[in-house]
Order: sequence, then structure tokens, then C-alpha cells
Amino acid sequence: MKNAIYPGSFDPVTYGHLDIIRRAAAIFDELIISVLNNVRKTPLFSVEERVRILENATKDIPNVRVESFSGLLVDYAMRRDVHVIVRGLRAITDFEYELQNAQTNRLLSKGELDTMFFTTSLEYAYLSSTTVREIASFGGDISGCVPDFVEELIYNKFGIHK
Ligand code: ADP
Repeated sequence: MKNAIYPGSFDPVTYGHLDIIRRAAAIFDELIISVLNNVRKTPLFSVEERVRILENATKDIPNVRVESFSGLLVDYAMRRDVHVIVRGLRAITDFEYELQNAQTNRLLSKGELDTMFFTTSLEYAYLSSTTVREIASFGGDISGCVPDFVEELIYNKFGIHK
């Protein structure tokens, strides 16, 4: 069975992430979306909330599973016996960081873990979780960025009632 891990913060999940998820799920037998539990960051949504949101947002894609992980991605992937990481590339600015991560993961896994990149669909090239959080914090319109139920949860976090 060909499976892959799509790791990220997903704080919050955007249409950009969901586009990558749909495309990767069409290629692999199983796609595991893995929410990084980064203790050094203060997220908008807790890991548990992000897992639930992702489960809800991907409930119509049968071969997608959502989990969380902490620590090194390579250790987690090897434990799960998964050998492919999926990442999205928006612009050249993503490239340097992603290249470094991909090469580090290959080295740490002794060649057991490869990274596959999906280039963003043009309509989502501008989209990032940071931008969504920023716009929402000022009560701006994020309806083109995230599913409706996520939009509502985000505004709730900022105490904004539309
Ligand atoms: P991280 O905090 O690890 O960068 P993110 O949740 O921001 O995690 O993103 C996870 C992955 O999804 C990254 O590979 C990122 O480049 C990709 N991604 C984020 N937004 C988009 C988008 N709009 N289009 C395509 N890929 C995206």
C-alpha cells in the first residue's frame, strides 16, 4: 500500500491545504494528515481542535486520516512505516525552507524518507494560515480562504460575531 504523510500546523486549515490534500489523496492509497504539536508556538487552535476541524473538512475523502504528532517528523514517519512526505509549494520563498527540510529528513532517515512537492493551484498561491488569522483578527472577510464552518470557528476565537 502506498501511503504518505502531509504534516503541517494547519492553524487554521485553508483552501490551499485542502487543495493539496485532495490532489495527494488521489495519488496515494492513504494520506495521513499529521498536525504538528509544536510546544514552542502558541496556536490559535489547540492540536485537538485542529484535528477535529481537519476531520470535518475532509470527511468526504475516504482515504484520508488525521492524526497529531510531536517531536521529529522522521521518527514519527518511521514509526508509522511511511516513506513519503507531502508538502505544498506556493512560491520561491517556500522553496529554500522546504528544500532544506526535505534534505535533512532524507539524511536523518538514511534515505528512507522522501518528500513530494505539490505546486499550489494559482487561485490559492497567496493563501497562508498567517494571512487568514491576521485578516480575521480585524474582522475582515475570509470566506474565500476557508470553509464556512472554519470561518465561524475562527471569528469565535477572536470574539467577533458576524
Ligand atoms: P507549516 O507551519 O509546517 O509551514 P502549514 O500548515 O503552514 O505548515 O502548511 C503545511 C504545508 O502546506 C506546507 O508545505 C505549506 O507550504 C503548504 N501550504 C500552505 N498553504 C498553501 C497553499 N495556499 N497552497 C499550497 N500549499 C500550501
